[in-house]
Amino acid sequence: TKFVYAFTEGNKDLKDLLGGKGANLAEMTNLGLPVPPGFTVTTEACCLYLENGTEPPALRDEVGEHLAALERQMDKRLGQADDPLLVSVRSGAKFSMPGMMDTVLNIGLSDASVTGLAAQAGDERFAWDSYRRLIQMFGKTVLGVDGELFEEALEEAKGAKGAVTDVELDAADLRTLVDRFKDIVRTATGRDFPQDPREQMDLAIRAVFDSWNTDRAKLYRRQERIPGDLGTAVNVCSMVFGNLGPDSGTGVAFTRDPASGQQGVYGDYLQNAQGEDVVAGIRNTVPLADLEQLDRKSYDELMQIMETLELHYKDLCDIEFTIERGKLWMLQTRVGKRTAAAAFRIATQLVDQGLIDEAEALQRVNGAQLAQLMFPRFDLTAKADQIGRGIAASPGAAVGKAVFDSYTAVKWSRSGEKVILIRRETNPDDLDGMIAAEGILTSRGGKTSHAAVVARGMGKTCVCGAEDLEVDTKRRQLTAPAPDGKGTLVIDEGDVVSIDGSTGKVYRGEVPVVPSPVVEYFEGRMHAGADDADELVQAVHRVMAYADRVRRLRVRANADNAEDAARARRFGAQGIGLCRTEHMFLGERRELVERLILADTDTERSQALDALLPLQKGDFKELFEAMDGLPVTVRLLDPPLHEFLPDITELSVRVALAEARKDANENDLRLLQAVHRLHEQNPMLGLRGVRLGLVIPGLFTMQVRAIAEAAAERKAAKGDPRAEIMIPLVGTVQELEIVRDEAERVIEEIEREHGVELKLTLGTMIELPRAALTAGQIAESADFFSFGTNDLTQTVWGFSRDDVEASFFTAYLEKGIFGVSPFETIDKDGVGKLVSDAVADGRATRPDLKLGVCGEHGGDPESVHFFHEVGLDYVSCSPFRIPVARLEAGRAAA
Ligand code: ADP
Ligand code: MG
Ligand code: MG
Repeated sequence: TKFVYAFTEGNKDLKDLLGGKGANLAEMTNLGLPVPPGFTVTTEACCLYLENGTEPPALRDEVGEHLAALERQMDKRLGQADDPLLVSVRSGAKFSMPGMMDTVLNIGLSDASVTGLAAQAGDERFAWDSYRRLIQMFGKTVLGVDGELFEEALEEAKGAKGAVTDVELDAADLRTLVDRFKDIVRTATGRDFPQDPREQMDLAIRAVFDSWNTDRAKLYRRQERIPGDLGTAVNVCSMVFGNLGPDSGTGVAFTRDPASGQQGVYGDYLQNAQGEDVVAGIRNTVPLADLEQLDRKSYDELMQIMETLELHYKDLCDIEFTIERGKLWMLQTRVGKRTAAAAFRIATQLVDQGLIDEAEALQRVNGAQLAQLMFPRFDLTAKADQIGRGIAASPGAAVGKAVFDSYTAVKWSRSGEKVILIRRETNPDDLDGMIAAEGILTSRGGKTSHAAVVARGMGKTCVCGAEDLEVDTKRRQLTAPAPDGKGTLVIDEGDVVSIDGSTGKVYRGEVPVVPSPVVEYFEGRMHAGADDADELVQAVHRVMAYADRVRRLRVRANADNAEDAARARRFGAQGIGLCRTEHMFLGERRELVERLILADTDTERSQALDALLPLQKGDFKELFEAMDGLPVTVRLLDPPLHEFLPDITELSVRVALAEARKDANENDLRLLQAVHRLHEQNPMLGLRGVRLGLVIPGLFTMQVRAIAEAAAERKAAKGDPRAEIMIPLVGTVQELEIVRDEAERVIEEIEREHGVELKLTLGTMIELPRAALTAGQIAESADFFSFGTNDLTQTVWGFSRDDVEASFFTAYLEKGIFGVSPFETIDKDGVGKLVSDAVADGRATRPDLKLGVCGEHGGDPESVHFFHEVGLDYVSCSPFRIPVARLEAGRAAA
């Protein structure tokens, strides 16, 4: 195998092998863009190294050959004393993991070559600054020296000089600092900083390999669901210098605004700086537009290149560039991360530009982004106490208690507090806290700072670079200028703050929130065609239309009252896939259910049922009216009986106390007996679903009667009811047959009475493994199947859904046994296999069998794709998930 590729040998489709950075460096090289020459060590080499604990034997020679070629091309040798070739050794995995892994710049510098570099550049200060950066980065990332030690030494040197920024240190200061840094390395590691350039390079390559498995990289991958076995590539890239004086600098840019999608000039530039300086927020950057004044030629070339990249990648790109004495170099590009709103806008803009078609546009957005756009935002008309403003880095409205470090953020959020993580700037060590927080606020750094990039990736609200705010992490305080301009006001740890990631505004106290415009649009309160509709709503409207045009899956709602049904319909539901009748038995009606359960005689029982009948019928009529013309699947009573009865301990105590007072009441005594009689160790595996219907005479027939009469009355009122009756928790076809016979008898009776044909269908849920395994038989008696994937997951795995989250799931997620809870995303290999087999067996028996899914999975993006693939007819989910399901069904089909 080939382990090393020159930039000229790769291309953008080789991300698996060359990582995203390497593949795109190659692509840019081949597009003729100015990329400093170099080569990429493959992810395969990394994986072999991680597996065996040592590099594949051939790697050393191959790196040597490519290095030699690079040296010929550059006409100087790595670390050559009088004119050194210097390189960066950069990590780069298939999926971008910003700041998670290591990069070392200026490899090749040594005591010998630093003077050569100074002579070549005609700049001593520059050479010593580069050398101290090498020792610092190399020391920290390759040799594992505590980075704080270098920071402290640097601060000391600045302090001694009365300097504020590192630019004020001169060559002599930096030279002293280099000695100091070398001492730090020697003391910490017991060895000298390596002077052999090839050794530096090899150690750095190995360090990049190792950085794949740091804790923070692993945590990030779990968060982003990136597989752990991909490994990283390593890019060796000849150095260009942005720190050679005022006509040099480094910057980052986007081809469009990653927050709004607007086309224009977006980015940050820092004069006389190298590498991470921009992102780290160490010195304040200038907006990219200012580069036009600073260096017109480079600016124009950059604009040209940005256009080339957009047209080539047909998408928003982000780039890193460096200007060395007026010469522009491209150091990185990739299809850039963006906010949810920008994703929708960019997708439609690119369609308008004729760069992509509708099917491709659907791949540029996803359901998670749409869900994010449906979150509420701050009420701009409310009185709010603004204390500062930063950059709107990642949208959303977040309210929480101020915390100033990651540890506290995690601790407080575990105990149920909502927190806002406030830092001067964030770094990868803050990741835990960022995950735990509602939002992130920093006082330094721009749109491309660590906080901004990571927050956008996580879909978390972020305001960064709020410069009027002073963050003091030691004292756990945020200080803001007082609104009257006199003095300051202080936010302490625990005080509530509100941050608006869409405007960058920071408020003291809690600001009320209002629904998102996207929800207003789905609700029909805002029209995409109207003048006031903003561009985001327009974009969502168009993308939803693309999805609806291509999707094959229908989308229904889980709803059990007219209000939810009406909303679901506004959101685009094509029926109800699950109406849970038990919700109709709560509240005041609970007493009637109690009577039903306690009934000793047939008369008592039918009295209770007769009382329930008109109530149920009323509910169904409203529901059928709200969903007129669309199918409504009504599930007969499902939950364990004990849910309708008082808590056994409480009732026992009450009765015991009453008996002691000698005034026990008859009803309580009977109730207690019933509770004892019906008590089950495992109610979820007990008397519920169809079993209830078979054990309590008249219960299911009452429900069927209520459905049929409601339908008949709707017909009489010229409505178009389309009810489907669903029997829960069936394990064998016999159960279904018995219920079916009774139900058909009732339906026929009502049809005769009303002189109508109701066309009610009867089907079952497939939510027990046995039902799935005998689906072929069950289909004989069922007009439709609806997969109840919640219970099916529960019974297939043998997990109690109500308990696992609290007990062992965290451990399972941490150990990587699953990347995501099987209750959230369907377990394709296990539960999914039962589903797809049952689909095949059911259809074999009855080709026109209607197939759907109800349960949480119906609104989960990944699961929706799976249901599309196995050929279901519809998914059903909660009303708010409907747009997400529509979109994902479209994406699955596009
Ligand atoms: P990351 O993946 O964290 O962005 P990079 O490998 O891109 O890490 O490098 C970190 C920083 O160093 C970036 O700002 C990049 O532009 C800069 N850099 C990397 N290689 C070179 C080089 N050969 N010359 C100049 N700057 C470089
Ligand atoms: Mg980079
Ligand atoms: Mg169920």
